Amino acid sequence: MRSSLAGPRVLLRKLREVMAEPINAQERLDKIVHLIAANVVAEVCSVYILRADGVLELYATEGLNKDAVHQTSLKVGEGLVGLISSDARPLNLPNAQAHPAFAYRPETGEENYNSFLGVPILRAGRTLGVLVVQNKDHRTYFEDEVEALQTTAMVIAEMVAAGELEAIAQQGTTIDVIRPMHLKGVALADGIGLGHVVLHEPRVVITNLIAEDADTEKKRLEESVTRLRQSLDHMLASGEFSQHGEHREVLEAYRMFAYDRGWIRKIDEAIRNGLTAEAAVEKVQSDTRAQMLRQTDPYLRERLHDLDDLAHRLIRELMGKNHSGEDELPKDAILIARNMGAAELLDYDRDRIRGLVLEESGPTSHVTIVARALGIPTVGQVEDIVSLVESGDAIIVDGEIGQIFLRPASDVEQAFADKVRLRSKRQEVYRQLRDEPTITKDGIEVKLLLNAGLLFDLPSLEDAGADGVGLFRTELQFMVASAFPRMQEQHALYARVLDAAGDKPVTFRSLDIGGDKVLPYLRLAQEENPAMGWRAIRFGLDRPGLLRTQIRAMLHAGAGRSLRIMFPMVADVSEFQQARDYVERELKHLRQHGHDTPKDLKLGVMLEVPALLYQLDEIYKEVDFVSVGSNDLFQFFYAVDRGNTLVAERFEALSASFLRALRKIVVVGDKMDTPVTLCGELGGQPLSAMALLAIGYRNLSMSPASIGPVKAMLRTLDLSALSEQLLVKLEAGNGTDEIREFLTNFASENNIPV
Ligand code: PEP
Ligand code: MG
Repeated sequence: MRSSLAGPRVLLRKLREVMAEPINAQERLDKIVHLIAANVVAEVCSVYILRADGVLELYATEGLNKDAVHQTSLKVGEGLVGLISSDARPLNLPNAQAHPAFAYRPETGEENYNSFLGVPILRAGRTLGVLVVQNKDHRTYFEDEVEALQTTAMVIAEMVAAGELEAIAQQGTTIDVIRPMHLKGVALADGIGLGHVVLHEPRVVITNLIAEDADTEKKRLEESVTRLRQSLDHMLASGEFSQHGEHREVLEAYRMFAYDRGWIRKIDEAIRNGLTAEAAVEKVQSDTRAQMLRQTDPYLRERLHDLDDLAHRLIRELMGKNHSGEDELPKDAILIARNMGAAELLDYDRDRIRGLVLEESGPTSHVTIVARALGIPTVGQVEDIVSLVESGDAIIVDGEIGQIFLRPASDVEQAFADKVRLRSKRQEVYRQLRDEPTITKDGIEVKLLLNAGLLFDLPSLEDAGADGVGLFRTELQFMVASAFPRMQEQHALYARVLDAAGDKPVTFRSLDIGGDKVLPYLRLAQEENPAMGWRAIRFGLDRPGLLRTQIRAMLHAGAGRSLRIMFPMVADVSEFQQARDYVERELKHLRQHGHDTPKDLKLGVMLEVPALLYQLDEIYKEVDFVSVGSNDLFQFFYAVDRGNTLVAERFEALSASFLRALRKIVVVGDKMDTPVTLCGELGGQPLSAMALLAIGYRNLSMSPASIGPVKAMLRTLDLSALSEQLLVKLEAGNGTDEIREFLTNFASENNIPV
């Protein structure tokens, strides 16, 4: 006989009966190990479950000393069981005691057994425990026995994930699958969200693991694989995808896997062992995932995502297209996704979303921009979050510092609930400040404006009590679209913005793409230094068709009203002059065709390239206004990439050198009687806003959430007193830390909230 196995299908059929019996978890586990031992013809069968403290505890055994159950334990990596758990791979040994990792546990009576076969209990690639069989004689277990044991392990994994074992956990211990976890990521959108996990791509819940008939399952698999391949071939052949490089590459990868014989063979094998087709796909995916998760090669990890997606598609195909497994969105949904398009986020009911967690995505990705605009606390770059959560898990998203608490302990939950209450109390204070005048304690008037870019930013104008829109980032419309917005679409957006603003001024910035702001439908050549590359006004002047279309859309929208346009990344006066020429040509064109034009048109530049600091007199002569882009200006001033965390915090914006540069801009502006605004992130932080006011700025533009805190700061600020002291320090060239320390002390001595 080739194998001592009575047939994995028989085993699975019996297992199904055991799973359906109305017995408690311990009895069920005992029956399972008994069944396996009988069917694999093993003298021993044991189940070890991973606890939250990283220990594998014996939960059931047939053959070893029963008293050892819930007593014997091994750490992950310790003994053969610990090794299987950490490697997530089966171990098949004819002489286990000779293995260097063997750890003897006298209470179990293990010394009588020589051969050993153990497999990890896996779910979505995570190890939840280990299943072991042992025999006295020296034998190597057959491949189909390994398969059968892995399949059984999958059934146990479902039991663990369903929380069935919690009832029999020893007091003071927790099973790993429900372990609270603290994960770090990158803060992408501010705010705290408490709620429950909703998987953006819900894991299909496979309720039927064990097949009635393998031939039927095989046929189902074949049909679904054919349909899947056809749909991928079709997508690739259709014009829609053949244009877009990146999508196409992903689809090609899908197709490669879909035709991979090894993948299909493994699924077939799992079906032969008694699983339904969908359970077989899930099992193979889980095994692959467990192995690939230990890969550090980013290319392979990316391929794992492709394979995950493909397995998902196949499971959906098998379970019927309409089976989504999705329940209604809970009222406190925290969305979890590997990544998500901006439009997909907009499809959700905003009122039910408390937070967003992504495995990928950086601060400038589209979904982040939209999440920020919608006020959804968001954390990105949280490794493996999708496989660590189960739908419905309690979770906290801290978008303030970029951390996640999964299945939080009650004290953590309490602390965050308090934090949320505190934040909303503060918001209430800001709301009350809304209609108060924006003047300092010593009576100096300041204008606080809004940075915006999409329609849903506009209600903030009213809600936050802003004095207007200081920076409208027109590229956002381009970034969330799937193709270049046409002139009419641009016109429609700008007109709605102006309508919403009423009498308040709006400053539109011409398209600032390139650098880190990429358009999916516009593939530009790879650049070595994209921040200093072909971007913003440079791109606009070289592609005048695009710039002129945009200018025309703005002029149309501003017909009969006041309109302000500024150009980003201007490094030389001549660039502004060229841009202005285009505006004049468009104006002429409109007039010639009998269109209305703006009744008052103001043109300005963003000052964000240091070269312009040395052309201040010249530029002020040309423009109607200047807006300082402190994000880029700081980046180029210190030569530190604003998106690179290794260097971005190396230098201090509140240093004498940078503040002197900023002061020069405003002093010359005042002298030339030209208004100056600052619209970088610096203006939105109360402490740095305080410094900006002190060096002469009177117009600051910031994100909606910053207006309240900055207003609260300035209304308690004796600006003249601060200004006098700070200017002395700047003259003296005081060191970096000293200025921040001075400002912090000034604020605390004068009870200024910063
Ligand atoms: C800036 O550079 O400061 C700015 C406001 O523009 P952006 O952040 O869009 O580059
Ligand atoms: Mg900029």
